[in-house]
Amino acid sequence: MTETTKSSLIERVPSLERLTRPFIDGGFVDARSSGTFENISPVNGDRLPDVASGDAADIDAAVASARRSFEMGDWRRRTPRERKIVLQRFGRILRDNTEELAALLAVEMGKPVKDGRWEVDFSATVLEWFGEAVDHLYDEVAPIGEVGHATITRVPVGVAGAIIPWNYPLLMAAVKLAPALASGNSMVLKPAEQTPAVALRVAELALEAGVPAGVLNVVPGLGHTAGKALAEHLDVDAIGFTGSTSVGRLVMKAAAESNLKKVSLELGGKSPALVLADAADMLDLVAAKTAESVFGNAGQMCDSSTRLIVHESLADEVVERLGAVAADWQPGDPFDDATTMGAIIEARQLERIMGFIAGAEPGGASIAHGGNQVRQETGGFYVEPTVIRGVTNDMDIARKEIFGPVLSVITFSDDEEGLRIANDTSYGLAAKMWTGDLKKAHRISRELRAGAVLVNGDELFDVTLPHGGFKQSGIGRDYSHHAFDNWTQLKSTYINLM
Ligand code: NAD
Repeated sequence: MTETTKSSLIERVPSLERLTRPFIDGGFVDARSSGTFENISPVNGDRLPDVASGDAADIDAAVASARRSFEMGDWRRRTPRERKIVLQRFGRILRDNTEELAALLAVEMGKPVKDGRWEVDFSATVLEWFGEAVDHLYDEVAPIGEVGHATITRVPVGVAGAIIPWNYPLLMAAVKLAPALASGNSMVLKPAEQTPAVALRVAELALEAGVPAGVLNVVPGLGHTAGKALAEHLDVDAIGFTGSTSVGRLVMKAAAESNLKKVSLELGGKSPALVLADAADMLDLVAAKTAESVFGNAGQMCDSSTRLIVHESLADEVVERLGAVAADWQPGDPFDDATTMGAIIEARQLERIMGFIAGAEPGGASIAHGGNQVRQETGGFYVEPTVIRGVTNDMDIARKEIFGPVLSVITFSDDEEGLRIANDTSYGLAAKMWTGDLKKAHRISRELRAGAVLVNGDELFDVTLPHGGFKQSGIGRDYSHHAFDNWTQLKSTYINLM
């Protein structure tokens, strides 16, 4: 097993040194703002090159570039097929740069390289799929009779803004850019402050793929400066945000108080997974899939099933099997191909997770597995896969999004109670259930209040399935044809024939 040492990170990804400035109008430029922010690697606490802290003036410059390119029309006036060719080339170029991108993901967010390679591949698929999809999108002719000819067409919104989080720095970018660019918009992307380099590299690769200068601009910066400036900009026509519910609220408010730009929000979650009494012969699969959902990406996933709501007759058995699979998710060096769980994004988040774990036992629950910070000697931020049992749904660990590898096990005695607990949350991103009874699978999945319901499996990430939340998990949908709704407007055109 290798161990990544300090100082070796930049050697692994030399491009980190130049990925520090805004990418505007087809190239890297000096920021208008003189400020910078520190970029700390969670792998070992190493300080990476400081990054320009873009502010309102940089966002203005990026929006102006996007507006110019939109008005010039080189991109929006291309046929869908021409844009498809570019997006497919973009996907291919991402794949050609897999090792560098996976290394950037590992350095900046502590993601295991193995998972990084998956993220590159899936991001490429998203770009390719939307390229293909836009070439298959037909407009409508309205049935108005012989008095005229009326069409209903989808047109790009114009300048599209995207603000994304750090947990899937490449995929979250691809999920916004693919439908927005495919439908002919020009864009400004504000990546999370923890993961700016990946997004800046994506802008360079987009240009290489043939996305014209000015169509994709990326401004690194902090949320309350660059992010806020983008959300309240008067010349941005739509904003797509992925991140926490609290910031999503601010983005919506900024849109309301500025120019009423179109808003789509992909927010937090506290997703339930119901294990019904009749699922006794599926417990190995339940344990394996739950571990993947809660410990994968070090638990930093919006739709992790962090509340495992188990029939009381199965709870001991489920907890025991989770202990066995947790052994496969011990944190390791993100650059080691064998590592399944990497680092937590930053020291502050590590402390927050440890705070939730520390509060569990005094609150009446008990730690069944894990619960410790590990690998402190590396200087990085790592937490063991943790299973907490005896949780009730009113506890903090059951109500708040922890965003770490921490699973709460809650029990119930009859299906109605299980369903009530599952729905008793302010979130509604995903819900899972495990059952051997087909009728219950239909009946209960109808009642679960979430944007995605998965029965006896966990294959949530498919580009053809819309992804988004009920309740305070968001508004609008990413992925699938429905994502075009975030980035296009419907236009009725009537031509009088009489
Ligand atoms: P965050 O809300 O702190 O930050 C997200 C982005 O918003 C960052 O780019 C940040 O700089 C920016 N931001 C912060 N303050 C801002 C402001 N005042 N105005 C405009 N922008 C601002 O979230 P995070 O910590 O980066 O990511 C974790 C959160 O993202 C979790 O809640 C997770 O559930 C959510 N998430 C949701 C999905 C989904 O599809 N629903 C996917 C991934 C992550």
